Amino acid sequence: MAAKAEFIWFNGEIMPWENAQVHVLSHAIHYGSSVFEGVRAYNTPKGPAVFRHPEHTKRLFDSAKIYRININHSADEIMESTRELIRRNDLKNAYIRPAAFLGDIGLGLRANPDAKADVVIAAFEWGSYLGEGSLEAGVDVGVSSWNRLAANTMPTGAKAGGNYLSSQLIAGEAGRHGYAEGIALDIHGQISEGSGENIFIVRNNVLYTPPTTAGILPGITRDTLTILARELGYEVREESIAREALYLADEIFMCGTAAEVVPIRSVDGIQVGEGKRGPITEQIQKMYFGLFSGETEDKWGWLDYVNA
Ligand code: PMP
Repeated sequence: MAAKAEFIWFNGEIMPWENAQVHVLSHAIHYGSSVFEGVRAYNTPKGPAVFRHPEHTKRLFDSAKIYRININHSADEIMESTRELIRRNDLKNAYIRPAAFLGDIGLGLRANPDAKADVVIAAFEWGSYLGEGSLEAGVDVGVSSWNRLAANTMPTGAKAGGNYLSSQLIAGEAGRHGYAEGIALDIHGQISEGSGENIFIVRNNVLYTPPTTAGILPGITRDTLTILARELGYEVREESIAREALYLADEIFMCGTAAEVVPIRSVDGIQVGEGKRGPITEQIQKMYFGLFSGETEDKWGWLDYVNA
């Protein structure tokens, strides 16, 4: 994926993509002191709309709060700048990457508490994260030898750059073993999440997803799909899930802003259900993507229209 668009927003200004530069001794480069979001805009019948924009922006500020990173802009300013950037780049569908990080503030680990973060918003086109056709065909995954982070080491509820070292280990190992993605267990051996996605398991028409205490990032897509599945009449339970449930599931799917809703057809080489996208997964996908095509009524006000 070569992320690129004509313009990017950096510290309050829209500028040519190439002009957004940081110093090589930036704090975030050395110590991972960054927080970020992954957001998508979809081309709806009423033009491009950012999905669950306030929730993503809130999570960016929450992540920053946990690490005491000062974002010198309001949430409204970040959201309006995002809409403006989409318009300036003339994007219809977009992946949006806001980030706040400690820049050229000196190299002490104890950053000056008054230091202002550098803030960037990028918006560009990005297709299916787990590959062309993954949404229909599903993917093969493996349980990772790496666990997700322990709660008292780094908080997984913060979407912080440093957490993605764990994700890189999981995703890298999965790739070397021929899997599209790795599923990590938490430090207690229960199912946590993928390197960049939450997970749902379907058994006997009930949906199960690990709780926030399982070392997961509480995903906004996870929340969306929980609401949509309940709307469809399914029971959704947030509970601790044992590894073997992956092998005995009728259906499994992963979800995230970038990955969207991806069926899993095998885990560790063991076929899941019929070994293809299951009917409940398909129904939930249809309802999810229907939000953007207009087939699913947006009762929740989840679409933030860029040209409103
Ligand atoms: N877990 C991790 C580790 C992630 O990086 C992501 C993607 N942001 C998710 C879960 C899914 O979160 P969301 O649905 O909010 O994109």
